[in-house]
Amino acid sequence: MTYVEEVKAAVKKRNAGQPEFMQAVDEVLNTIKPVAESDPVYKHNAVLERVTEPDRQIMFRVPWTDDNGNMRINRGYRVQFNNAIGPYKGGLRFHPSVDLSIIKFLGFEQIFKNSLTGLPIGGGKGGSDFDPKGKSEREIREFCQSFMTELSRHIGADTDVPAGDIGVGGREIGYMFGQYKRLKNLYEGVLTGKGLTYGGSLVRTEATGFGLVYIVENMLEAAGDGIKGKTVAISGSGNVAIYAAQKATELGGKVVTMSDSNGWIYAPDGIDLDIVKDIKEVKRGRIREYAERVSSAEYRTSGKVWQVKCDVALPCATQNELDLNDAKTLIKNKVKAVGEGANMPSTTDAVNAFQAANVLFMPAKAANAGGVAVSALEMSQNSQRLSWSFEETDGKLKQIMNGIFTKTAEAADMYAKHGDYVSGANIAGFLKVAQAMISQGV
Ligand code: NDP
Repeated sequence: MTYVEEVKAAVKKRNAGQPEFMQAVDEVLNTIKPVAESDPVYKHNAVLERVTEPDRQIMFRVPWTDDNGNMRINRGYRVQFNNAIGPYKGGLRFHPSVDLSIIKFLGFEQIFKNSLTGLPIGGGKGGSDFDPKGKSEREIREFCQSFMTELSRHIGADTDVPAGDIGVGGREIGYMFGQYKRLKNLYEGVLTGKGLTYGGSLVRTEATGFGLVYIVENMLEAAGDGIKGKTVAISGSGNVAIYAAQKATELGGKVVTMSDSNGWIYAPDGIDLDIVKDIKEVKRGRIREYAERVSSAEYRTSGKVWQVKCDVALPCATQNELDLNDAKTLIKNKVKAVGEGANMPSTTDAVNAFQAANVLFMPAKAANAGGVAVSALEMSQNSQRLSWSFEETDGKLKQIMNGIFTKTAEAADMYAKHGDYVSGANIAGFLKVAQAMISQGV
């Protein structure tokens, strides 16, 4: 058995019942084979065993009371996966589907994503199976405070710096920051994605979506093409989806779909984002309301956005939302490029199908790293007690995404195949972390 196969078997045995985590481990380990098996130093230092075992996995009870006075209990998580290159960094997800497997897959991916940004941040992830949908303002605030009461023991500006993810946006970060400050009497950059009046960074809200479109544009340009004039299908209508749609439109693309967990809209003339922002960011409503306000748009509850003919597909909702059938439909409809805004939105079969059909494919690790990159810039600004302008921060984001594209493309050329950005991103991300782990000896 090769070193990679040995480690995969051991990880599978030790983490039974964690399918998402195994999916992420398999994908990374399979693609870094050319590096991990070319030099005995990796096996000698047990680098793969170390990088697949979190430094620490914290699970805790989160009690809160609902508006009827009933006590409710959720489970909280923080997985501190790897801090070889910097403090643990990664978002918090509040969604009923959250379990240890999902948090571990996200934390594991985060290690390599954070490494790719070139910034000094390690990998971690956390969250809760709390469902924010339909909860009152008071319930959300109390939940966030209770969650932070426990989490505050484990994090800190130089230890572990969480941010937002699904179900955790500016409002939730604000409540959690307030509670941390109160418990610790410390005004420090312990969370990113903060409001602009208390240490947040300009461009953080837009960063993941903007970064996604910047790197997709890089990928298209390398193939002698660009987003201008392209029809773009986007799934999701949250933070990542909205700002991906904005940047794609700014660069001359036409975004024709968005979705939420109830259904999706098709707007053949292009989506009016002011209306989406009003529904989602102001009223916290459902995407269905878009079709109620715009008569030329359709709302559908069956099928998926991927059935619409498009040149560029940007999955921006959640893991495994784009499967082999969806990939086949997109390929049949002559999709040119796919960029993953969400984490692991494409199943392994779907990724293989895109690559076999020579569709340009940028994996999440590289494609959605803009969010954590600007989070790291927020940490820098907090440490320096400074705040940078929108233009300056957006310029840095663009530069970071260019850097990620170059590193990913070069690693693909050197160790895999020209244009294999999946292998390129995994290998480039892995090399830096592995080197740091070996140097540190633990
Ligand atoms: P939001 O909560 O803002 O939005 C999530 C969107 O996806 C919503 O439209 C939501 O619909 C939809 N969605 C979530 N879960 C499901 C599901 N199980 N089935 C169908 N639709 C679903 O989250 P973000 O935009 O922040 O995150 C989206 C993705 O991007 C996630 O994979 C996240 O990990 C990834 N990401 C986010 C970053 C960030 O900076 N925010 C950074 C890097 C990656 P509904 O409202 O109905 O639930």
